[in-house]
Amino acid sequence: MTATSKAGAPWTCPFCPLACDHLGTAAAAGGAGLALAGGRCERAERALAQLSDGAVVASVDGAATNLDDAIAAAAARLASSRQPLFAGLGTDVDGARALYPLACATGAIVDAAGGDALAEGLRALQDRGQFTTTLAEVRTRADLVVFVGAPPLAMAPLLRERLGIGEAQGFDRHVVVLGADLGAVAGWAGAGVTVEAVAPGADLFELLPLLAASVGARVAVPVALQGLVDRLRSARYAVLVGAPALLPAQSALLIEAVHRVVHTLNRKTRAAALWIGGGQGAATANQVFAWLGGLPMRSRAGPRGLEHDPHAYAAARLLADGAADLLMWVSSFEAEATPPAASMPLVALAHPAQAAACRRAGAVFIGVATPGIGHGGHLFRTDGTVLMPLNAARTDALPSVADVARRLLAALPRREAA
Ligand code: SF4
Repeated sequence: MTATSKAGAPWTCPFCPLACDHLGTAAAAGGAGLALAGGRCERAERALAQLSDGAVVASVDGAATNLDDAIAAAAARLASSRQPLFAGLGTDVDGARALYPLACATGAIVDAAGGDALAEGLRALQDRGQFTTTLAEVRTRADLVVFVGAPPLAMAPLLRERLGIGEAQGFDRHVVVLGADLGAVAGWAGAGVTVEAVAPGADLFELLPLLAASVGARVAVPVALQGLVDRLRSARYAVLVGAPALLPAQSALLIEAVHRVVHTLNRKTRAAALWIGGGQGAATANQVFAWLGGLPMRSRAGPRGLEHDPHAYAAARLLADGAADLLMWVSSFEAEATPPAASMPLVALAHPAQAAACRRAGAVFIGVATPGIGHGGHLFRTDGTVLMPLNAARTDALPSVADVARRLLAALPRREAA
């Protein structure tokens, strides 16, 4: 281990869905932030460099204040809201666990950042079920990796390394990019790795159903897909990898088609899907809210009991329709993940670098620590079944989302039982 957390324990990077645990942090030369140690990753380096000095930062209506007054102002605004919206939800397991009772107490609708992609994946899962796999299993077993559309390398920069492509595993690997150009994948070819683009530029809505039908021998295989169909049938372990956030609108149809390919292959060989996404705490909030209340994101615990609507409860729609009267924005990972433009009252529990974006009348801003930087915790990784432990990289004075949410709940006026 090259570098570690402040306690000497392994450090897990919290900045993308891969949650890498092979790197570490070190003091940045001449800045308040941290530097990445033990390897390179552009996204992690940028996020670490954007960290504040860890001092408390809070404001009410644009004027700087202390934490107690900001929490009191936020609680008062939450208490007077008729329909709050909790959006972003960029936090860890503890933060999400603390937000859940606050959402129930205020009747808030909840939706994570990137909620559209999350909802499309959930719809496909609800409709048909799915076979998925882990990063480790792809790394050690998959001899065929098929990217559905362009590989999500900006979202998950170390994806190649985490999938073990280029690593000696005792078998050769073939990498396919389906429906897009090879792009950076062209450079992955080398010892034991071959790469190929299949039908670059083709419409995935035409391509994937055709692939599913071809693999299932329900149609004559088109020439453009013959090579891929043969490879899928003869692979020891084929894995189809995609990022719902990068797929076109209505991507549940594409995700379902991928699942059909996987289901068919599993009758005779072994195959799985791996969906890259749910970073910035989105997958974590979804898991926590589902286990606490039985419903995923885009739900509400209100006077009519538990309600879930993946369309009507989308944050963007609620904001556009004026269907919420207060936005609570939770975003503790990256400086750029600022709240959506809205003129309604705002309560932001956010990365300190978002303070300027939240400095306005009607806004309460409370800077919070980043999980895995200012405090430890847990975060779900992209493969869904793996919960990664986070160890703090430093000590800072910023409160966690969980701290603030619990204080907000305690500060709400008690409602009399009906
Ligand atoms: S790939 Fe993602 S998790 Fe890994 S170091 Fe880069 S930002 Fe962090």
